[in-house]
Amino acid sequence: MESARKDSVRRQFSQNAGDYRDEPVFAEGEDLRRMVESVALHGTETLLDVGAGAGHTALAFAPHVRECVGCDLTEQMVDVANQFARQKQIENVRFVVGDAEDLHFKDASFDLVTCRFAAHHFPAVSKALAEISRVLKPGGTFLLVDHYAPEDDELDAFVNTLDRMRDPSHVREHRLSEYRDWFLEVGLSYREVSRWDIRLAFDNWVQRARTPLPMRQRLVEHLQSASPACKETFSVTLDDAGLPVSFCLKCALIHGVKGA
Ligand code: SAM
Repeated sequence: MESARKDSVRRQFSQNAGDYRDEPVFAEGEDLRRMVESVALHGTETLLDVGAGAGHTALAFAPHVRECVGCDLTEQMVDVANQFARQKQIENVRFVVGDAEDLHFKDASFDLVTCRFAAHHFPAVSKALAEISRVLKPGGTFLLVDHYAPEDDELDAFVNTLDRMRDPSHVREHRLSEYRDWFLEVGLSYREVSRWDIRLAFDNWVQRARTPLPMRQRLVEHLQSASPACKETFSVTLDDAGLPVSFCLKCALIHGVKGA
């Protein structure tokens, strides 16, 4: 089951790696600046970025730390990220193929670990968090950014159904209460640094995932038939013909300090 999920991730992200390099949501997100500014950096740190995608997070941190490694399950993403770093002439970053749930790094080898918009694809997030805690030095910080599910069952089901229909490699948007429990279990403190909504244009969102047409139609119906609470929470906007224009996902930046 887990390996089927990981095959699904590789299939999904090998077809559109370049889109993730160019998409403003990933390349220019305000959250990147927020992540960098949320930690005191001295330029001596080593950083691991898990689920690095096209490399935006590692590349945003690179000027502020000594060395960055990004790891990602999808080989094509790793290739795109390495090319991107070369193109930007950033030399203290390298990207390697690797699984968040089985990190090939020594215990206590990084000052910082980051993971941005990737954890909702991990079949066993608690396993990934245990690995992240293992490779962090004592006192090191983990920075997680992801979209999350509200605590309410209806809202949770709505957003997870939406994301899973669009992209079969989506596992689950977790609740912040779930993250809190997992962080504490693996020896990380838990602090929500900020929460915000990210607005996604519907057409661009399904195009990036290469969602097949029949499934796009089901997504349209899912958004159109959303309850008033779901429409309000996720700020669903429809045009005059009733077709979805955009909606928001709920995002958070969380810090976990090892052994704090
Ligand atoms: N972090 C990137 C950024 O800041 O632009 C965006 C990440 S992209 C939306 C999600 C990435 O997670 C994909 O490249 C995918 O291959 C990766 N991924 C999914 N499951 C993974 C796993 N178990 N281990 C490592 N990477 C994984």
